[in-house]
Amino acid sequence: TMNEWVNVESVMREIMPIIASEGLLYGVTVSWTSEGQLPFVTADHEMLKQVYLNICKNGIEAMTQGGELTIKGYTAGEGKERSLVIDFTDTGPGILESIIDRIFDPFVTTKANGTGLGLSVCQRIMHDFGGSIRAVSTEIGSCFTVDLPY
Ligand code: ADP
Ligand code: MG
Repeated sequence: TMNEWVNVESVMREIMPIIASEGLLYGVTVSWTSEGQLPFVTADHEMLKQVYLNICKNGIEAMTQGGELTIKGYTAGEGKERSLVIDFTDTGPGILESIIDRIFDPFVTTKANGTGLGLSVCQRIMHDFGGSIRAVSTEIGSCFTVDLPY
């Protein structure tokens, strides 16, 4: 991993066209909004891009009947606890109850051609940059939250 000064807004600008066209194939509308100017973070541009793409791809793949992927960026915490947070919320069926405790483990997949590696790689990358990733699942969909200190 490389440590550089990363502008998350520019990472999002790069992935939006990719995600939007993938969404088109599934009847999924994708939106990205940020609360004010987001701070720069110490991370790796390409790796962060990979994390956000993986999470978006999972969300879109979950919405086989179409839906919405809503991505929001904002800051949270104060002082040493300050973090840049991105929420990826989908309107899919939610995470299967039987695997919810294991989704970040390698090789856990519910897809016929899935590798089950996406989320484990995402988690490792976020940890490498001092951040975290977590998931919440409800009857109205899933929300993946990633944060990074700044
Ligand atoms: P893969 O995409 O190859 O299956 P991942 O590690 O990316 O591997 O995801 C693991 C599993 O977590 C998926 O197979 C799926 O069951 C579940 N999952 C991930 N994202 C979502 C989501 N947004 N909604 C519902 N289930 C999800
Ligand atoms: Mg995946």
